[in-house]
Amino acid sequence: MVLNRRNFLLLSGASISTIALGTFAKTSLAQVLDDGSDGPFELPPLPYDYNALEPYIDEETMRFHHDKHHAGYTKNLNKAVSAYPELASKSAEDILRDFANVPEDIATTVRNNGGGYVNHKMFWEIMSPDGGGEPTGEIASAINDAFGSFEAFKEEFNTSGSQQFGSGWAWLVLDGNNQLQVMGTANQDSPLMNGMSPIMGNDVWEHAYYLKYRNARGEYLNQWWNVINWDEVNNRYQQAISEAGTQSVIAST
Ligand code: MN
Repeated sequence: MVLNRRNFLLLSGASISTIALGTFAKTSLAQVLDDGSDGPFELPPLPYDYNALEPYIDEETMRFHHDKHHAGYTKNLNKAVSAYPELASKSAEDILRDFANVPEDIATTVRNNGGGYVNHKMFWEIMSPDGGGEPTGEIASAINDAFGSFEAFKEEFNTSGSQQFGSGWAWLVLDGNNQLQVMGTANQDSPLMNGMSPIMGNDVWEHAYYLKYRNARGEYLNQWWNVINWDEVNNRYQQAISEAGTQSVIAST
């Protein structure tokens, strides 16, 4: 990593807090050293401790998943857009929404790493140590309307996750007709690339569960509902509905 001014300041800060905070700050220091944020896209910190989702998702998985995998996608996305200032000034979400206009020489890199960057940003936010239980807010009635019941939705979502061959994601999306649907994507493909708004998604790459659940992906899918942050899922649903409303107003004028 190039020791630029920003990183130097962060390092100085981290060294001081290392004395005050011990092991926690050492973790922060390690992240500062290789978090891939040397460009327009920054690795967002986890909104809770690495061990906060125990016993459902273990600390070691969270450390590798955030500090290595998500950091890697961030780094590769930054590298890919470095020659394209018009992309570097957009949000990663908007780049994926307009994927057809991504230059061909970086398209595969952006698809994989831009997808990985955006998907994981959502993933940390829709989980919480205070999560679980039944959906709340508008998303609760929307799920009932679309799938009949929360149980029926859960089953369809888990089936999508367990049937995804190899690496990918299971999603609840708002489609182009403002309907909720469950879908799967391979690798790091984002529903944004297909004009859909991802409301919630579960990572079924082996790196998301293998240290704890080994080959039992179905068990991971079942346990994951214990950490789902319905407040945030509901926020994302309301946001997607209001953006869709804005789009249709623009389209009709
Ligand atoms: Mn992942």
